[in-house]
Amino acid sequence: MTHLMLRTLRTKFFSNGTLSMKRLVKVWLSLCALSLLGACRLVVVASPGDENSQTPWNWSEDYVLEQVGHVRAGKDLNPESWPGGARVAVLLSYDVDNETVMGLRAGEISVGPLSQGQYGHRVALPRIVELMNEENIPTTFFFPAWSMKIAPEQAALINESGLHEIAVHGWIHELNTALDAETEERLLRQAVEEIETISGKSIVGYRAPSWNHSPNTLSIVKEMGFLYESSLMHDDRPYELLLDGEPTGIVELPVEWILDDAPLFNPRGNSYMNPRDVMQVWIDEFDRAWEEGTLFLLTMHPHVTGHRSRIVALEGLIEHIKAKGDIWFGTHEEAARYVRQQAGMN
Ligand SMILES: [Zn+2]
Repeated sequence: MTHLMLRTLRTKFFSNGTLSMKRLVKVWLSLCALSLLGACRLVVVASPGDENSQTPWNWSEDYVLEQVGHVRAGKDLNPESWPGGARVAVLLSYDVDNETVMGLRAGEISVGPLSQGQYGHRVALPRIVELMNEENIPTTFFFPAWSMKIAPEQAALINESGLHEIAVHGWIHELNTALDAETEERLLRQAVEEIETISGKSIVGYRAPSWNHSPNTLSIVKEMGFLYESSLMHDDRPYELLLDGEPTGIVELPVEWILDDAPLFNPRGNSYMNPRDVMQVWIDEFDRAWEEGTLFLLTMHPHVTGHRSRIVALEGLIEHIKAKGDIWFGTHEEAARYVRQQAGMN
């Protein structure tokens, strides 16, 4: 094979019996290309059991099962019925990201996006809190610590009715997978401390920024004694999280991108949908949860849903849910405590 290639090269570049500088360069480039191909072949042909992420088809059975089994769903914690004998639980949650997702998390400071962040606490959050209070719907607000540090009045506004819960959503909306375990734990501990100091509430719930779990996140959440976690997607129903096959005692209140306002409400994104169409998706999700007797959990963001056209969609959803009846609205904390108690985990 190599002999044939060399012969072709010789025929191509040395046919007139002389070797010009231009041809010499071409020969050199061709040989480089051949050596690169050889290098690629060396990477591709890895031995069985190799754990190189470039060649997952060579991973050993033990390795795949260990990775897949690291964080899994354990015991189903869906109760026979929800408080008051209700058929379905409705948990509305808001991730109050504001400026943290408008550049801060990525280290980018830009006036335009930061103005959208201020809209989140100046206009959107008050509009949402007012609606939740008027509708008498207990709600959970997850905060990155910096979002609350920038506008601490948000905590007072949420606390005023005594209906709502405040929980933690990272320090500056950092990506856990970008951090070593020590930094990840330090940021989460200082975030909880900061939010508790400003809000005067004890924090019992965790939602990972961008729902992004590193291999260390669940161990840290367990070590810190959280009651519940709400960033994972193993089920539609509440369940107990397993860490390396062992029950953690942590309640998972699962999320889903279908049940999140951010992807479909971005007017500059590729998947923008009319808010009223999104409302229909959520209504269908709720109706089926009602039939199953399980859980309807919605994740929203003040800076996204707090705009006028989206609030109309949220109001439509609430009207539909209330008209259906046999429902229980609760905070994440109330739901987690209830399912633990029903499952005899206390
Ligand atoms: Zn977020």
